[in-house]
Amino acid sequence: MFILTFDVESAYALNPNLESDTNWNTWLEETLASVTQITQLLKKHEVPATFFIVGKVIERAGQDLSNLLDDSFLFDIGSHTYSHMEILSVHTKTQNKF
Ligand SMILES: [Zn+2]
Repeated sequence: MFILTFDVESAYALNPNLESDTNWNTWLEETLASVTQITQLLKKHEVPATFFIVGKVIERAGQDLSNLLDDSFLFDIGSHTYSHMEILSVHTKTQNKF
């Protein structure tokens, strides 16, 4: 048995300091394009998978993701935290926030 999972977080996770409406539009476009390609391939080969999705992505593209993932018994959706905060950070500010 193997378990296939995908983290869905967009480029937001690489640098949350770059959050803006313009960047979110780009990040969501890229995210939805990649999830679309992945789900098409998984459906073609009938491979089950779980998609762990960051809450900030669900807020902005929940219906689109639901359309991609909810119509197949192959896919599960899991939480990948709300904001993808780096909980293993060595920065005191992040540790305190967590
Ligand atoms: Zn992640």
